[in-house]
Amino acid sequence: MGTVKRILARKADVALTTTEGAMVFDAIRVMAERGVGALVVTEGDLVVGIITERDYLRKVALEGRSSKETAVGAIMSSPVVTVGQGDTIDHCMELMTRHRFRHLPVVEDDQLVGVISIGDCVKQLLKEHKDEISHLAEYIGGRA
Ligand code: AMP
Repeated sequence: MGTVKRILARKADVALTTTEGAMVFDAIRVMAERGVGALVVTEGDLVVGIITERDYLRKVALEGRSSKETAVGAIMSSPVVTVGQGDTIDHCMELMTRHRFRHLPVVEDDQLVGVISIGDCVKQLLKEHKDEISHLAEYIGGRA
């Protein structure tokens, strides 16, 4: 059974973060530049919130607010649902489906160690299913 640790091992990026006082404009610029849909909001080492493209869309763009004059803290989601490295991918999928969001910060001993997305989970599950099928095919073919 795949775990969060396996997903993080295949990801190049560490968790990208911002702070409550940063402007939304700067946060979405980082998201666009780095090709991610979410930034974890930290205060020192602590995870205090999360901001995603969806927050910008719903709480800034649609409401006619200015991203250069709105702070991350005004639109972030808090508290944040997090997972640990030992949690299974099934558990993460269940959490994201139940809460209707697509990102999960990974925290170990109160330290942020990464972020996984629903896309990462789907990719990892597909890989594991493919590996399993090829093992079974080898076994059935008598080559195991
Ligand atoms: P997303 O689908 O990840 O773009 O997020 C949809 C909404 O859920 C946004 O308002 C996010 O701030 C919020 N959100 C995303 N991930 C989490 C999380 N792990 N914990 C709490 N809220 C979240």
